[in-house]
Amino acid sequence: MAFALARTRALLGLTAPLVSVEVHLSGGLPRTSLVGLPAAAVRESKDRVRAALVASDFRYPDGRVVINLGPADLPKEGGRFDLPIALGILAASGQLPAERLAEVEVVGELSLNGTVQPVRGAISCAVAARESARALILPAGNAREAAFARAVDLFPVSHLAEARGHLLEAPAIEPFSAPIPEPRPREAPELADVRGQEMAKRALEVAAAGGHHVLMVGPPGTGKTMLATRLPGLLPPMSESEALETMAIYSARRLERDPAAWRERPFRAPHHTTSAVGLAGGGVPPRPGEISLANHGLLFLDELGEFGRPILDVLREPLESGRVTIVRAACQAEFPARFQLVAAMNPCPCGYLGDGTTRCRCLPEAIRRYQARVSGPLIDRFDLHLPLVREPPDEADGHVTADGATAGGTRGTDAPVRTSTAVRARVADACERQLARGGKLNRDLGPAELARHCPLDAGAQSLLRAATRRLVLSERAVQRVLRVARTIADLDGGDPPRTHQVAEALAYRGLERFHIG
Ligand SMILES: [Zn+2]
Repeated sequence: MAFALARTRALLGLTAPLVSVEVHLSGGLPRTSLVGLPAAAVRESKDRVRAALVASDFRYPDGRVVINLGPADLPKEGGRFDLPIALGILAASGQLPAERLAEVEVVGELSLNGTVQPVRGAISCAVAARESARALILPAGNAREAAFARAVDLFPVSHLAEARGHLLEAPAIEPFSAPIPEPRPREAPELADVRGQEMAKRALEVAAAGGHHVLMVGPPGTGKTMLATRLPGLLPPMSESEALETMAIYSARRLERDPAAWRERPFRAPHHTTSAVGLAGGGVPPRPGEISLANHGLLFLDELGEFGRPILDVLREPLESGRVTIVRAACQAEFPARFQLVAAMNPCPCGYLGDGTTRCRCLPEAIRRYQARVSGPLIDRFDLHLPLVREPPDEADGHVTADGATAGGTRGTDAPVRTSTAVRARVADACERQLARGGKLNRDLGPAELARHCPLDAGAQSLLRAATRRLVLSERAVQRVLRVARTIADLDGGDPPRTHQVAEALAYRGLERFHIG
């Protein structure tokens, strides 16, 4: 037999297109060539494969070896094709049954001594193999993550000889399986531990319930970071399909997620020195960035003004579409990036503008420049603007103040308990209502869906019209008010939003209060 075929998978974004490895042996001078648009790292593969075969006491063919990776127009990178190439050479040279090899899919990088190393994107490969109803031979180091793709015959190997052994007469390896953990209560800081800030806590509850983007503006020491870190503990777990998609993104970066916590929504807090590539993704081959690692979870940008406009502007398109496309010379890849954005910033360079004291000495021009670091279109994309002020020291007991109760849309002494557990239960109910009604969170409702799911009575309509004029709200901002009002009503039982609920939603468009005239 002078020909063999092995099937493997490339990685393009989160998809794993099929690649055929054809090995032809013929007489003539000893020479190995690799064709089919391989990147430099793949061209080095022939040296690694030869070393691994020899080190494992296999015979390397004497004559000419031609290895073709097809389809030729698909970009190929990394060492992931080493193991299929090595097995293809073994099959073509009669050291392995070629028909057995053609039945399975194989991925894995080889060390010079024949050890099999993990690859990127093993989950995507497992999903693709499952859809093709073929078994997958993969690196042992990738088995645990790949098992989350369910219902695929996974055969983990740690050495080239082990892979060959499995493909000889009788399968030598048991299919790998591992239990898929149920969601567990999340360990997150307790909301009730934040002193005061009742309006902010209420706003977090609303944001959690509708997946809304939140911008907190306030001086240092008002608890912006404390509040943001409470938000993960208020969110329901991801669905299985959301969790699998998010795991596949981590797999494409070779980042580990704790298997027991696989349903927990990610919380990413990149530093303001992060580059545009670090935030949005990029590189050759394209790798996902922070916005994709936050998929179905939270992206927290502290000190928003310090990030710089060009970097922040890469957020605008993904905030609308829930995806990011990375275009590089050789290829284009798309990653999911459906995240909830939580940001915090100071109102001025010193931070103390509007704190009720005279500490802030920033000049109006400096304040204007500082606030302009975040573009208007980005500010516009936040559903809730949350001005924070320092809590008076004598309210240290955390009583609900009259002011907080009014702002929170609650009524008198019936103010709800704001422990993380209580809020999480209300948020879960509200999310269920949204998914049952429109199949999505209120954050993602389009204009037509808003019109259908968010009818307003005459009182609410006239309030919204008046506020639109007074606050000079854009069409987009009005839609955000409606989405938030819809969520507030969902927290209250699910009827259409009433006047007081629209009023509460409008109270969260208060950023201009911080701007000086
Ligand atoms: Zn200042």
